Amino acid sequence: MSVNINSVKAYPLFEGSYSVDNSKKFLPFDPAVHRRQDRPASLFIFVQPFLVETSTQLILIDTGLGFNTPAGEPVLHENIRKTGHDPEDVDMVLMSHLHFDHSAGMIRHNDTSTALSFPLAEYVINRQEWEYAYSHPSASYRAEVYDVVQRSGNLRFIEGDGRLNDSISYQVTGGHCKYHQVFKISEGDETIFYGGDVLPEPEQVMRRFKAKYDYDGERSMQLREEFGKQAAHENWLCLFYHAKSHSMGRIKEENASFTFLPQD
Ligand SMILES: [Zn+2]
Repeated sequence: MSVNINSVKAYPLFEGSYSVDNSKKFLPFDPAVHRRQDRPASLFIFVQPFLVETSTQLILIDTGLGFNTPAGEPVLHENIRKTGHDPEDVDMVLMSHLHFDHSAGMIRHNDTSTALSFPLAEYVINRQEWEYAYSHPSASYRAEVYDVVQRSGNLRFIEGDGRLNDSISYQVTGGHCKYHQVFKISEGDETIFYGGDVLPEPEQVMRRFKAKYDYDGERSMQLREEFGKQAAHENWLCLFYHAKSHSMGRIKEENASFTFLPQD
């Protein structure tokens, strides 16, 4: 007889690595082909949205930069197919925030048209982040992307902290940007935690620092510590959007210090 099995599963959908300079443009950067010294004053960023499969739903968490394959298909679609699913099967798209590197993939485009990348999904977005993104145009917020989502009617606004259903909860954290939010997906005895850009890389749990790119660096630092403790205490499987090597894993806390156990 089988007992309670964890049906919840997560897949990283690696979209690529990029260099970013002051222009905030993401240039594909392949360490096998490109040289770091040819990209002065640049940050090197890895991008991976996640697909989470529960017993009843297929959930995409953040949507990447929206780049296409040479064949003109979104990289994200190809990655989803590799997990055995169809992009049309995605039920819900959970957005931590609307910065370009997380949100541009909400839509797909070719030379002549734009459309939702996940036409049957509900796009779950914090209402104040939506308003903030429109009212603060910048290199990070691209209204032309949000317009396509708006006209689709597939938008679901949430505010504050709460639950979407029995398995998914959300919490507004601020920190990285004013209305940044994080998600937890639980089923059986498994909890998956997505900390977005408050916790973008596993290494950040291990050291205390304030990041210049944060809206409120002090708050992000506190949150990383709190989430690290909870993740260790409750054995969460954590997902890291900008991880350079291991994008999923668990945190252990011993003698007041954290270690990371990769699980991918
Ligand atoms: Zn980011």
